[in-house]
Amino acid sequence: MSPWLIRALIPASVVGTYVLYTSTGVPRYVGRSDTDVRRRLLRHCTDRAGSYFSYDVHHTPGNAFEMECALFHALSPHLVNRIHPDRPNFHTTSCTFCLPAQLSAQKFRHLPQTSTPRNEDAQ
Ligand SMILES: [Zn+2]
Repeated sequence: MSPWLIRALIPASVVGTYVLYTSTGVPRYVGRSDTDVRRRLLRHCTDRAGSYFSYDVHHTPGNAFEMECALFHALSPHLVNRIHPDRPNFHTTSCTFCLPAQLSAQKFRHLPQTSTPRNEDAQ
C-alpha cells in the first residue's frame, strides 16, 4: 500500500469499499467509505493494517453497504473485523446476507440496557 498508488488509482470523493490483505495475500480487513474511499485508504497507509488492497467504487452508499456486507460474510473467517458493517444513516434495509438469527442478534445489541440480567435460578 503506497499513498502514490492510491492517489493514482482512485479519484477523490467517491463512495467505495475495500479489502486490505496481508503480505501473503490473505484478506484481513473489509471497509467502506460513504464519502471518500481514497481518503480512507490513505489513512490505512499510516496504520499499516494491510500490505495490499483492492477496492470498488459504488454509485450510492446503499450499494457500498451491500458490497461491504457481502465481503464481510464471505471473508469473515480471515478478517479482524468483529462488528458487522453498519448501515448508512438513511438506509433502512438490513443486510441481505445475514441469517435470521444474526439479524435478531443485531437488533438485540442495539436495545438500551434498562435493567441488570435476572438470575432465573435464584428462587
Ligand atoms: Zn450481515
